[in-house]
Amino acid sequence: MDPIRIAVVGVGKIARDQHLPAIAGNKAFSLAATVSPHDAGVEGVSHHKSLDELIENGPAVDAVALCTPPQVRYDLAVQALNKGMHVFLEKPPGATLSECVALSSRAEKVGSTLFAAWHSRFAAGVAPARAWLAERRIESVKIVWREDVRVWHPGQAWIWEPGGLGVFDPGINALSILTHILPRPVFLKTATLEIPANRAAPIAADIQFCDTAGAPIHMDLDWRQTGPQSWDIVVETDAGTLKLSNGGAVLTLPTGAEHSEDLEYPGLYARFANLIRGGRSDVDIAPLRLVADAFLRGNRQTVEAFHD
Ligand code: NAP
Repeated sequence: MDPIRIAVVGVGKIARDQHLPAIAGNKAFSLAATVSPHDAGVEGVSHHKSLDELIENGPAVDAVALCTPPQVRYDLAVQALNKGMHVFLEKPPGATLSECVALSSRAEKVGSTLFAAWHSRFAAGVAPARAWLAERRIESVKIVWREDVRVWHPGQAWIWEPGGLGVFDPGINALSILTHILPRPVFLKTATLEIPANRAAPIAADIQFCDTAGAPIHMDLDWRQTGPQSWDIVVETDAGTLKLSNGGAVLTLPTGAEHSEDLEYPGLYARFANLIRGGRSDVDIAPLRLVADAFLRGNRQTVEAFHD
């Protein structure tokens, strides 16, 4: 079978750290081109400053991976779908819920694959956590996602703009795990969003969710953490405590801890290839819906200005 010729659009941190190595390591794909306004691309691979330029002058491609900030993703995705390409959307799949729904319909209409990728769902501990929790009664959940924005997002102005999500940019990864491992749907009860005086998006948030059986779920997000960082989810159940730490990489059950190799992006590309070969799409917007609810219902507090 011929490899799927793919273009990476938006050559920034995540494209270089994860997408390019994952594509290079998967025989189902061949990197046909890159697109990025300022980045120089990859030696020996056709590079273009815009998707328009790739479509007009570049090599033929079957698929694109959109690794741009979310605010520009919809227009690029529609353009690619209208050219018959399959589309991999980095998380979050869009800047609004309605544009994600519109994209899903468009993909169905043109018969292309649309994949809303949630990389944290492919962390090693997540699938076994989901299987273990399927058999349990959930009593409560606590999520602590505390990291240093200066370390993880240096100089990323888009992340503070409307649609950039602020601290929900990492926080949505926790929600992508939560909505995948819990047996029941989750909804938001209350939220407090702390927004720096000079920014449009929150630097911290405190949120109370519950599941449809009433189990309380507390989420503590903070981008001002220095020292040890936390990406932990603790679930209390009728059979003891489950803990997912390191963003889902380490699973601790009452019987002990398991830690496996990080295979998030190889897992995402294996899934994308399967979806394309099977003529299917996968667009789950549940994590983005919870973030939208926090913005809809959240109480906003202005806090100290943030400077990079
Ligand atoms: P980033 O370093 O700012 O990279 C984004 C790149 O997109 C920029 O380098 C920019 O390229 C390019 N771009 C902007 N507008 C474009 C357009 N219209 N057409 C083509 N390229 C365009 O951001 P990032 O950290 O890689 O994050 C990108 C996305 O991945 C975000 O949605 C983020 O949530 C997600 N993500 C990030 C991480 C992470 O650890 N950083 C992890 C998982 C997922 P130029 O520099 O060439 O202008």
